Amino acid sequence: MNERLIVIGSLNMDLSVTVPRLPRPGETVSGADVVRGPGGKGGNQAVAAARLGARVRMVGLLGDDAHGADLRAALVAEGIDDRAVNVLPGTATGLALIVVQHDGENTVTLSPGANRHLDEATLRTLTDGIVADRGDTVLLQLEVPLPTVLTAAREARAAGALTVLNAAPLPEPGPLMAELLREVDVLVVNETEAAGLPGASGIAPPADRDHPGADPAGAEPARQDEDWTARADRLRLLGPATVVVTLGAVGAVAAGSGGHHTEPGFPVDAVDTVGAGDACCAQFAIALGLGRPLAEAVRRACAAGALAATRHGAQDALPSRAAVDALLAGAAPRTEVHRAR
Ligand code: ADP
Repeated sequence: MNERLIVIGSLNMDLSVTVPRLPRPGETVSGADVVRGPGGKGGNQAVAAARLGARVRMVGLLGDDAHGADLRAALVAEGIDDRAVNVLPGTATGLALIVVQHDGENTVTLSPGANRHLDEATLRTLTDGIVADRGDTVLLQLEVPLPTVLTAAREARAAGALTVLNAAPLPEPGPLMAELLREVDVLVVNETEAAGLPGASGIAPPADRDHPGADPAGAEPARQDEDWTARADRLRLLGPATVVVTLGAVGAVAAGSGGHHTEPGFPVDAVDTVGAGDACCAQFAIALGLGRPLAEAVRRACAAGALAATRHGAQDALPSRAAVDALLAGAAPRTEVHRAR
């Protein structure tokens, strides 16, 4: 197999502190020791894809500091091609400052650093003017400047690559985003992003999406598969031929040219859902890039996401291909599930 999965996106260092309670403005709260680990949606999805068996190339920017050197080492340790990852002199590496309250409630302050400088000219330099080749899959997110993501999608598609967009974090609606949606073949969004994209009509994300059992009445009025399937269909009208909406613990729905697929979540003991979305996107992109049917691709993607939820951390939690195979082999056969209205 000569095809590559090319991730064009952000590289951040995550610095995380657990505190008894989140500080109010102006207040100082003492917390536990800092946990430092590689992150950023681009880096996470690149590492996820490598562990899931893809030949991965990363395109991105680092600052000239110790965080950047460690992020590069983390990519290389996973066997990722880092030749299109450059260091920007005089610039800091992207940094996420994460404060986590004991019950999981958290705040994240992001300093994009070098990621902010990944403009179109830099993209051309990093890729020698060739973003992708025919048969490649290009996986994009929105933690680097939108015009760059648009150019990458347009050029990758023109070259005959499959373009996959994880539309996160969602920017303000505008003409560039609408244009981008017309340039991608596959869109992956969670329910908050799905509700925030143009054309959303009255679909509110459920309050506690990761703990469906937490509701004493067991009711999930907003989580009706039919609504999300309809929403996925409407998102397809914006451009992407295939749309997946991920629904946390209850799986995902997908819409493609061949029809719909609803995948119930894999029942796992979830401890931390950070990294679940990234594992899910990477696995979905790999499966579609290999030409697998939509139902199989969504199922594998949900298995990868579920496994990531069973471990703490971002990149530490990302599962291997063998782990996904094992979960799929051990799981009970699935049938299409439609919850009663
Ligand atoms: P994001 O992190 O982008 O919001 P989700 O939370 O929807 O993404 O997670 C992506 C996928 O990971 C889901 O579609 C689901 O298949 C899987 N997943 C996430 N959380 C859980 C969980 N608690 N239990 C089982 N699977 C999960």
